Amino acid sequence: MNIRVRFAPSPTGSLHLGVVRTAIFNYLFSKRNGGKLVLRIEDTDQERSTVESYNEILSSLKWLGIDWDEGPYKQSERLDIYNRYAEKLILSGNAYRCYATEEEINHLKEQAKKEKKIYKYPRIWRDKVEPPNGRKYVVRFKCPDNQEIKFKDSLRGNITIKSSNLDDFIIIKGDGFPTYNFASSIDDIEMKISNVIRGEDHLSNTPKQILIFNALSNYQPEFTHVSMILGNDKTKLSKRHGAESINSFREKGFLPISIINYLARLGWSHGDQEIFSINEMKEFFSLDNLNKSPAVFDIEKFSWVNSTQIKNQNNDSLLSQLDIKFIPEIDPNKALDIAKNKSSNMIQLKESLLFCESRKIKLDQTLFKLINNEQKSMLKKFSDYYININPNTHDEIKTCFNNFLTANELKMKELALPLRIVLTGTKSSPGIFEILDLLGAEIIKERIEENCS
Ligand code: GLU
Repeated sequence: MNIRVRFAPSPTGSLHLGVVRTAIFNYLFSKRNGGKLVLRIEDTDQERSTVESYNEILSSLKWLGIDWDEGPYKQSERLDIYNRYAEKLILSGNAYRCYATEEEINHLKEQAKKEKKIYKYPRIWRDKVEPPNGRKYVVRFKCPDNQEIKFKDSLRGNITIKSSNLDDFIIIKGDGFPTYNFASSIDDIEMKISNVIRGEDHLSNTPKQILIFNALSNYQPEFTHVSMILGNDKTKLSKRHGAESINSFREKGFLPISIINYLARLGWSHGDQEIFSINEMKEFFSLDNLNKSPAVFDIEKFSWVNSTQIKNQNNDSLLSQLDIKFIPEIDPNKALDIAKNKSSNMIQLKESLLFCESRKIKLDQTLFKLINNEQKSMLKKFSDYYININPNTHDEIKTCFNNFLTANELKMKELALPLRIVLTGTKSSPGIFEILDLLGAEIIKERIEENCS
């Protein structure tokens, strides 16, 4: 069978971790099985769908590197397809137009509430043959009586639901748009989706979708309802747990690979391995290794994955994601080698390398005030000494530095701290010997002159 999966977000807000994890699982599953990933935008809720959210979905997926093979299909542009299928269901006796007004329905709901009963649409228009003229209608699915609706979930086994638990649910709304359950089922049929991998919160929708599949074809995809992600207090994951949109993690300096790695590992495992390259994930991912119980989001572990991934990246890959212009005198490779091991995120990495963007740097007032006149003369003296010796290797630099300390009866930090500030404009940059090596005698001299005269 051809493997075809879909990622079907609703563009109704920011792209959150749970939704992205669904995208990742579908992506990895399609890659692992040589299948296709369809991107489908479920924008049938006209009131809640926004263009901003649609754009955010696309740009976040692109940034993450989750590329899809087909789409994006927008459900709002496929209304004729859903209406054609609805018509087919009406003709085959599986659906009907319901002309009950909103007031009528609200009244029935209130009545059920008063009687402490669960509201169930009482099939008012199910068997009426004479439609009223010019009245708005919805299309409802005729839910069969006393039927067992069966499906198999690869994680949860065989599931059976009694059709008496469902009512005649709406498939086409009053505005002519399909409901989620209808559009999703029709698209799964039309797009020949072989595997539906989505959040566990959709488990309760599946019986309705099975009824629609059964009424139209003998198609049924294989289902996998993935467990939810919870916060560390075991409640539904939200902002309060530090879990915001993908964009906010991007702004906080998380790499796409860290997000994919951490989210994939939340709910899926491959032995004890924690850190994966994208190729490893594509190779190892399997639905069989998904976890049935909910996963707990842990921001500290997420940050650890990010810093580990930063260290593991090759310099070219980091460079392409950094947006830093190195001056020609500074070797970006060398700079990254010394900076990436000390950075826990990309913001820190960028900040620690800003001193590589220009020949000279001007200290801001707060840092400038940290260096007194005595220190300035010491730095000038060091600069003359250094340029004279002009050490090359790491060992030579170290010896030169230490000899200067001994000759001037200085302690390491008495020289290293002001020197680091003057050379990098920060108090916490990579090791001082590495900085000296990276900058070279000429630039060292220029920066000391600039800030110590
Ligand atoms: N649009 C649904 C959501 O965003 C997708 C459900 C599905 O995958 O069937 O939750």
